[in-house]
Amino acid sequence: MKKRVFSGARPTARQHIGNYLGAIQNYVNLQQEYNCIYCIVDIHALTSLEDTSKLPENISEMALDWLAAGLDPDKSIIFVQSHVPEVMELYTLLGMITPLSWLLRVPTFKEKVKLQPHNVNYGLVGYPVLMTADIALYKAEVVPVGEDQLPHLELAREIARRFNNLFGDTFPEPQAKLTSFPLIAGLDGAGKMSKQSGSSIELALSPKETIERVMTAVTDPARRYRSDPGHPEICNIYSLHRFFSPSELDDIASQCRSAQIGCVDCKKLLGQGINAALEPFRQRRAALATKPNYITEVLADGAQQASVIARETIREVKQKMRLL
Ligand code: SF4
Repeated sequence: MKKRVFSGARPTARQHIGNYLGAIQNYVNLQQEYNCIYCIVDIHALTSLEDTSKLPENISEMALDWLAAGLDPDKSIIFVQSHVPEVMELYTLLGMITPLSWLLRVPTFKEKVKLQPHNVNYGLVGYPVLMTADIALYKAEVVPVGEDQLPHLELAREIARRFNNLFGDTFPEPQAKLTSFPLIAGLDGAGKMSKQSGSSIELALSPKETIERVMTAVTDPARRYRSDPGHPEICNIYSLHRFFSPSELDDIASQCRSAQIGCVDCKKLLGQGINAALEPFRQRRAALATKPNYITEVLADGAQQASVIARETIREVKQKMRLL
């Protein structure tokens, strides 16, 4: 019997090539080995989104990206978090057994407080409890995580353990499936590609828009003139070439160091490499975009399958807590 995997992604903005090379391709591969449940976690998005006007669009775009990348609704359950409202019920119930001190020590809570001091909402503190509810509701045994998310998963394990100790064995303690996601540099040269910083190349961009976006990138800051030798090892364009032009890496590096290639040409080469790599994905994406009803049906069917598991878990939890 295959183990059950749960993973979710927040629809706070359009997906970019960093998401594609990292989480999304990992999702696709996990389908071979596990029974996967993939969730577009729109309630989690509300902890940082004050303006929700783009939320419906971001949800359908995320579903479109996932399906075009190879998530298969015949193999995986794909749905939107809020479409299975039992998760909010479990969130409340688990919140009653989670000591506040556990939540206040979570490093990401402190980071979020710094990031959005004008909006330190209750949901930010409760975020790990909602995450635990996501996993526990479906009794998922495995959760794919990067190293930085391990503290969250450890907390989910502690909450599950506490519930089991108080009310009897109910939830599996979810195991981390450590995944080393490639670090995809942002175009602004200030760290990894992120949805929020405007440093990303969204998957929904056309080939022309992709090249235009790449042309805005910061390169080696010491290379001010075309005749200056460059330093590819500190250039974010070069780091992207590793993924999109692997066979040309050595040539690009030596031509950059000897100023035989300029940054404009180097960026064009990268844009072409990204476009070539994304072409099959884009074709599938364009075909799916002509069938919006299909996306709606996939998400509705996924929510229905998820609801069957969720209702069963909630009934068991309420019985054990003497609420039924
Ligand atoms: Fe970066 Fe390419 Fe310019 Fe060298 S030539 S600094 S690798 S963009």
